[in-house]
Formats: sequence, C-alpha cells, structure tokens
Amino acid sequence: MPQNKFYKTIHQYNKKPLSAEDIYKLQEIARDYSRVKNYVYQRYGGVGGLLKIYPGYTVQNEMTQSEIRTQLGLPSVYFYLAVFEALGDIKAQWTNVKRSILEAISRNEHFSPQEKHYLRFMMKFGGCFDHILNGKKVVIPEMMEETYKRIMEDIEYSSACEEKLNKYLCRQVRKRLKNLQTDRGDGFSLTERAYRYGYCGKEHGIFISTKESRKRIFIALTDNNAYNRQLYIRIKPEECKVRISVPIEQKARLHKDYINEVGISLGMWHMITTDGGRIYGERFGQIQQELAEYMRISAQIYRKEKHNNAGRKKYKAHKAKLNARLETYVNQEINRMIDEEKPRTIFLPGFPQGNKKGFNRKINYSVGVWKKGFMKDRLRQKCQENSIEYVEVEGKAISTECNRCGAHGKYQNDIFVCESCGYEEDKKTNAAKNAKKRGKWKKQDSYIVH
Ligand SMILES: [Zn+2]
Repeated sequence: MPQNKFYKTIHQYNKKPLSAEDIYKLQEIARDYSRVKNYVYQRYGGVGGLLKIYPGYTVQNEMTQSEIRTQLGLPSVYFYLAVFEALGDIKAQWTNVKRSILEAISRNEHFSPQEKHYLRFMMKFGGCFDHILNGKKVVIPEMMEETYKRIMEDIEYSSACEEKLNKYLCRQVRKRLKNLQTDRGDGFSLTERAYRYGYCGKEHGIFISTKESRKRIFIALTDNNAYNRQLYIRIKPEECKVRISVPIEQKARLHKDYINEVGISLGMWHMITTDGGRIYGERFGQIQQELAEYMRISAQIYRKEKHNNAGRKKYKAHKAKLNARLETYVNQEINRMIDEEKPRTIFLPGFPQGNKKGFNRKINYSVGVWKKGFMKDRLRQKCQENSIEYVEVEGKAISTECNRCGAHGKYQNDIFVCESCGYEEDKKTNAAKNAKKRGKWKKQDSYIVH
C-alpha cells in the first residue's frame, strides 16, 4: 500500500560527558520504567488480560491502585507512559496473533465453509473471542444477533461442534501467545510533560524530570533543535553519554510514473540484480573487500603494537571513512535503481523460513549478513520515502528453483541450470524473477483472504 506519511528517526547527543550522578538518576528511571512494563506484561499479557485491555481504563485504574506504583515512586509522567507503552505492545501482539490465526483458518482444509464462518465471526467481536478464551459464555452484540443465529443454524446448533471449534481457537492462541518481557533498562520514553528544551547559561539543551520531585537534570546538546513530541532516551553509562531519538513525520514523494513491479535479489558482490537482469551496485563487493582487507591488516598490526594509541586512533578514523564510503555508495546505487526502474512495487526474498527473526548463529557472525541487513533497511526506507510498496517474500530455495518450470535446479558458478526444462539464466536474475513471481502470488492470496 503506498504510504503518504512515514516516520524518520533523528538523534540528538550530549555535548559534554554527563556526571556520574546524572547518569545514575537517568538509570534509576530506566530501571523502574522497565519494571513497570514487565509488571504490565505479566499481569495483562495473557488471555485473562484480554478482558481488560480494551479500551484500557481498567488497566489504568488498576495500575493506579497497584502496589508497584507506591513501591517505586516513579513520577506519573513516566509511570503511565510505561503502562501505555506496555499495553501497546500487548495489543500489537494480539493483532498479530489474530491475523496469524485467521490465516491458519483460511488455509485449513478440514473446516467446512460454515465452520470457518463461525470461527471468523467469533474472532471479530469483543465478548466472543475474549470470552471463549476465558471459558465464559459468549455475549453477542445486539446488532449481530441475526447473523449469529444463522451461523449457529449452519453448524446445526451442535454443542460438540461448537466446543471443538472453541477449543481450536484456544489451542491456536496458546501456540502463538508469547510472554512479553523487556530486560533492557538502558533507556525510557518521555513526553513533553517530562522534559523541556532550553538554556542553562549559554548552553542549549534539555531539562529532564527525575525521581526527586521538582528536580530536573540538564543535558547540554550538540544541536540547537527543540521538539515537542515523545522522545526516547538511551543511556550509555560506560561512556557517560546519552542518545535521544526523535521521530519526525515526513511526507513521502509520490511518483505517478512509477508503475513497474520489480523483483530483486541482493548479493554480496553485485548489490542488486533485477528480474530484468540489470545490476546496481556493481562495485559493492570490491569496496567491501577493501574494507575487510584493511581491517584484517590493521588487526594484525594492532596485535603487535598493542600500546600504540595514536595508531589505533588513525585506524578508527580510516575505518570510519571506508564505512562511510560504503554507505554512501549503497545509498547512491539504491537511488539510481529506483530512478531507473521506476517501481510501484519491489519484491525481494526475506530470510529463509524457520529463521523468522532473521537470526541464524551460523551465518549471523559474518560481516556479510550485517551488510545485508543494512542494505535492506536502506532499501525499505527509500521505498517509504518514495511511496513504493516493499514486499518481502519467502526466501527458501529461491536461488535453486527454476523460474520457468518450478523444478529444483543447480547453479554452476553464476549460471543457474535447470535439468528438467533446460532453462539457463544468470543465478541472481533467476532468483529475482522468482522473487517477483512469489510476490505476485502472495499479493493475490492476500486479496482473497480480505
Ligand atoms: Zn526448469
């Protein structure tokens, strides 16, 4: 779906190192903040919580009365924000769980259309889904009573059937609902009621409320900007630093002439190959290799001269320069690709399945995968900025499947060869074509479901 607005995060930094005392005061808030969140997760994150989290006043009231409130003595400006943030995570989890169950229902071949209808109906309304999960009698919204009657006639008022279907829902939820938890405690969110931008002497910076009432700490900032939205402050105690994240709303550009559907495949040598066989970021591998080589040689020198601090500094500066060069190159080539391909939609392979978080110990240690993550982030961002639809598709076996006949093929060097039908194609182009094909199917599927 093309988006017209999106958020970009910008950062603000402290100008001078923070005192140990100020760091401690910030850490105190961060610790309490995550305690409150964990408390909310634990108390309302399960199926029981489902009866209370919509619309949320019950939680707010209960939390006001809660022991943890008096125990921690966290100022309200932080306490309620932590509550709402945790509540937001819980609701987001329910949205995902429900979506995933609806998909499972659609895919399930053992259910009759009537049974599917019953299940979807039960998931849609408050008083149904939440009551079933908690073993309560369902409450049908008045205006839906007629529909409910028809659905029950369809499944023939059989209580065995009803029970079977309800149990199915409970099972599906149990399978998907995770215990939410945060163990970070290295930062917290703050609204305008907890901070104020201003001057302290000649320094521009931000005043932040602490647990001591009416006492704010002042952090001088490297820039003179002031914002009026919800911020997130991350504490880096070992460096006496903080980083403030500010979400900035931006308008996306809309290109009327961008009408193409483009499949792409990312690579460590050639950055992007399209389904049309065009390559962007041809020198990507080369630049990356220079960086890796420099790091390898420097590491050897460093091992020999451990106390050469000047050398270390020079190394860091040069490494940063090479990294910046690589990042500039990535941006520039993504821009060129978008400019030339004029895509309305971009399809690309996601991480292989069974590896949903994109995390695999074996491969995650290599620099390459990290760079791939960086490339994807950049690509996703550029798509947002230009109202281009970004679609990740199932990445499993995408390089070994024949785009023409679907058989499993092989590649020799860079050429994909299908023994079934004789198709030969550049390996990356074949993968990009598959990405496009899978993406189109995926979109068709989702039109049917909704
Ligand atoms: Zn084939």
